[in-house]
Amino acid sequence: MTTILTLHDPATARRHYAEGVWRADTLYALLRRQAERRPAAFALRDAGRRLAWADLLGWVDAVAAELHAAGVRRGERVSVWLPNRVETVVVTLACSRNGYIVNPSLHRAFTVAEVVSLIAGIGAAALFAEPGYGADASRSDIFAAATSVKSMRRVFRVEPGRAAAPPRAALPQPPPDANPDTPVYLAFTSGTTGRPKGVLHSDNTLLANGRAMVADWHHDERTILLSLSPLSHHIATVALEQMLVAGCEFVVNDPPPGASALDWLLETGATYVMGVPTHAMDMLDAARRRGLERLGDVRIFYMAGAPIPRETAQEFLDRGVAPQNIYGMTENGSHQYTLPDDDARTVTATCGRACKGYEVRIFKSEAPDIEAAQGEIGEIGGRGGVLTLGYFGDQAATESSFNRDGWFMSGDLGRLDAQGCLEILGRKKDLIIRGGHNIYPVRIEDLAIRHPDIARAAAFPVADRRLGEKVCLAVVPRAGARPAAMDVLATLREAGLSIYDMPEFFVSLDEFPLTGSGKVLKRELIERAKAGRIALEPIQWQEPKGQERQGGA
Ligand code: AMP
Repeated sequence: MTTILTLHDPATARRHYAEGVWRADTLYALLRRQAERRPAAFALRDAGRRLAWADLLGWVDAVAAELHAAGVRRGERVSVWLPNRVETVVVTLACSRNGYIVNPSLHRAFTVAEVVSLIAGIGAAALFAEPGYGADASRSDIFAAATSVKSMRRVFRVEPGRAAAPPRAALPQPPPDANPDTPVYLAFTSGTTGRPKGVLHSDNTLLANGRAMVADWHHDERTILLSLSPLSHHIATVALEQMLVAGCEFVVNDPPPGASALDWLLETGATYVMGVPTHAMDMLDAARRRGLERLGDVRIFYMAGAPIPRETAQEFLDRGVAPQNIYGMTENGSHQYTLPDDDARTVTATCGRACKGYEVRIFKSEAPDIEAAQGEIGEIGGRGGVLTLGYFGDQAATESSFNRDGWFMSGDLGRLDAQGCLEILGRKKDLIIRGGHNIYPVRIEDLAIRHPDIARAAAFPVADRRLGEKVCLAVVPRAGARPAAMDVLATLREAGLSIYDMPEFFVSLDEFPLTGSGKVLKRELIERAKAGRIALEPIQWQEPKGQERQGGA
C-alpha cells in the first residue's frame, strides 16, 4: 500500500491492463530480465564507465541495500543532484527496486538554496550529490545545507571523476517491490511561474510510453541510444524507459574532457539520439562545420520539448536520418510522435498521432470543456495510461489541470489535420495578442529560420499601450552573419506570413537564455526587453509597390 495521494482509479487501471498498456513489470524487473538474458552486453555508458547489464544490476542492488540500511522506506523520496553520469540511472533503478520515489530533476543551473528548498518541500529522505556541482558550489556547500532538511536521513557524496567501479551488494537486501503502480518518480515542472510542481509517475505510467515508442520505432538490443538531454530532464527518463524495454545500450551526455557532443556521438556509435531542437540544431551545425554528410551511425533523431523548426526536421531527412517529431510533457511523456513511414510533410510539419495508451483531443481555448471542431486551433487535452498520477501534495494544481470530463489540459495550443496528426502552435500563454488578433510565435520562428543568416529565432510580445502587444523577433545569426531586419521580414513575407503577424521590433543576439533542459527562456527575453537590457529596433514592413492590396493573407 502507498500513503502517497494519487489519481489511481481501479476501473481505469483494469482497462489499461486489459489493453496491455500497463503490465506487471517494474523498471527494476526489466533490468533484471535484461541482465539474465544478456549479462555481458553493454547497458549503460558515461565518459568513464561502460557497464554490462550484469554489472548494472549488481550496482543497483548495492545502492538499494545502502538506502535500505540508511532507513529509507517505501514511498519515501530520494533526490539526485548530479551531472550526467551513470549513478543517476543506478539510483533510479534502485528506487524502483525498493519502492522509493526517485527525484532526479535537480538541474545544474540550480543553487544550493533552491535545491534545499525543493527537497525540503518533498520531504526527501536521501540525497545523492557531487561536490562542486551546481550554480554556486564555490560559495555554498550542499552537504552542509542538506543536513538542515528535517526529513533527510542520509546524504550520499558522489565524488567527481568517473573512476568508481560498480560495487556489489554487501548489506542485507529487502525483497524487491514488485508493484508497478505505486509512484516511483517525482519530477519538477520547469516552474515558469511560482513554485515548480512535482509530477508523479509509476513504473507503469513511465513504461507504457517506452513500450509504445520501442514497438513503433522497432528498437532492439542493436540500438545505441544517446540522450543529449540531461538526466535531470524527462526526455532522459523516456530514454531510460526505452533502454529497459528494448534492452539497448543507453549513453548519457558525458563526453570526455575536450571532446564535443559530436565527437561523443561518433565515438559511442549512437544509432538513436534524443534531445530538444536546440541539441538537434547544434549537432547539425557541428556536422556542417566538419563537412560530414552523415551523422555517424545515427538513423533516428528524437526532438521534443520545444517547437521543432521544419528546416531542422528536413535537414535530418536530407542526411538520411529519420526525425522523430515529438510532443509531450513531463506529465504525459512523449505521447505524440511521427512514425518511421510517415511522409515528409507529416514528419516536418506535425507531431503525428498519440501513442498506444494515450488519446488526444482539442478543446476550445476559452472554454476547455467544449471540444473544438476538426482543424480548429484549441488547447490540447489528453488522457490515458501514460498520464501522471498527479502533482505531489498539490490538490489544487492537480484538480485544475483537468477539464470537467477528466481530460488533462496541457496549456498548449494545437490543431489536428485531416489525417489526425497534431500540429503544435505553442504554449497558450506565449500567444501574442495584437489588437485582438492572435499571433502564434511558433509560426514566425519556423519561417524566420529559413533565412540563410539565421541560426535561431524567438518571437515574443512587447507591451503596447494602444494594441496591447506587438511582436518582437529576436534572432541569433549564423557565425559571422549580420542579417538586416528588413531582409528578415522579406523572408517571412515571401514564406507566407500575414502582414498582420509581422514583427514590429527586431533584435539580434549572440545567444538566447536557455533553461536547464535547453529551451529558450522567453520570459527572460521579455524581461530583458522590458528593462531595456536589450535594444529593440522598431521596424515596419512595407508591401512592395503595386502589391499592397494582396497583403494580409
Ligand atoms: P517539459 O515538461 O519540460 O518537457 O515541457 C513540456 C512543454 O514543452 C509542453 O507543454 C510544450 O509547451 C513544450 N513542447 C514539448 N514538445 C513540443 C513540440 N514538439 N513543439 C512545441 N512545444 C513543445
